[in-house]
Amino acid sequence: MAEKVILTGDRPTGRLHIGHYVGSLRRRVQLQNEGGYKDMFVFIADAQALTDNFDNPEKVRQNVVEVALDYLACGLDPSKVTIFIQSAIPELAELSFYFMNLVTVARLQRNPTVKTEIKMRGFGEGDDAVFGSGLPVGFFTYPISQAADITLFKATMVPVGADQKPMLEQTVEIVRKFNSIYGETLVEPEIVLPQNAASQRLPGTDGKAKMSKSLGNCIYLGTDPLHINVADPGHVEGNAVFTYLDAFCRDEHFGLYWPEYANLDELKAHYTKGGLGDVKCKRFLEKVLNEELEPIRARRKEFEKDIPAVYEMLRKGVDKARETAARTMDEVRKAMKINYFDDKALIEEQSKKYSL
Ligand code: ATP
Ligand code: MG
Repeated sequence: MAEKVILTGDRPTGRLHIGHYVGSLRRRVQLQNEGGYKDMFVFIADAQALTDNFDNPEKVRQNVVEVALDYLACGLDPSKVTIFIQSAIPELAELSFYFMNLVTVARLQRNPTVKTEIKMRGFGEGDDAVFGSGLPVGFFTYPISQAADITLFKATMVPVGADQKPMLEQTVEIVRKFNSIYGETLVEPEIVLPQNAASQRLPGTDGKAKMSKSLGNCIYLGTDPLHINVADPGHVEGNAVFTYLDAFCRDEHFGLYWPEYANLDELKAHYTKGGLGDVKCKRFLEKVLNEELEPIRARRKEFEKDIPAVYEMLRKGVDKARETAARTMDEVRKAMKINYFDDKALIEEQSKKYSL
């Protein structure tokens, strides 16, 4: 059994939202505090963000520190977790390049998350990624670079939302192919999904299937919930207010804010029967969200006071991550027989061949 290594990342395309929180961040903080792992890595995926924002580098540049602040605000602790920036690890590009040989175009085209995201971003059939509407190769192949992110650090556990399931499946396929061709080198990761469906893929405030920075339908961790605006049809299924309650509400919230009900099931039953207004449910949601988000907002304010320290924390994280990256790449090069200068046997064998 490989030692436990936890790894996840987020794209710096905006501040983090409550979808990230219930889908992945909350679990990361919990895993961090439980301990029992060899390493835990959390990285800011700026190189991946550039695959669909290559023409807006300023957006990515500005959001790196925003994501780092959200991490610290949520309770990720740099003394326990290595927090780093993806583009600062050149080994990732190197490993991705070799993984490209192990994946077919057809397999990438079948990846359901890539399919949805291509549609969502409006990439068309054009042949010009910059001035036309074509699909950039970098975006199309991001599942491959994501496989490199995971395997370079030999991650065994990846706590993410349900949209990442196809990525993890592809990563496992790549690891199996690599190991069967080049010998046992890389480790198969396991996805760690949130327990309930609402948290696995939190919908947007517009009722769209997924809350996503790129869709502008988010409740950001820094948002004051009193200002949220949620579209609410009058039934529990597909009602964002109830989905958010599913993801956030605990029984003790009723004791605190709405003692008429013991738990969410009772509230839902009354709502479904009729005679319970949407406004009351929304108010309750605001209180529940506020209880969870208030401490996060307060901690963020503290970390915002020393931005240079946040960059310094990231720089240290990069240094640490590169040590692991270099070790794995040594093993990869050896397995792939491209470690010429360290390959004494090869040099000896060939000099013998020519001395005969
Ligand atoms: P973008 O629109 O730029 O892709 P995003 O909002 O999808 O941004 P990511 O950085 O792609 O955010 O995702 C970071 C992590 O958060 C991933 O683990 C992903 O599964 C999780 N996540 C993102 N959105 C949601 C959501 N709505 N519900 C649950 N988990 C989510
Ligand atoms: Mg995303």
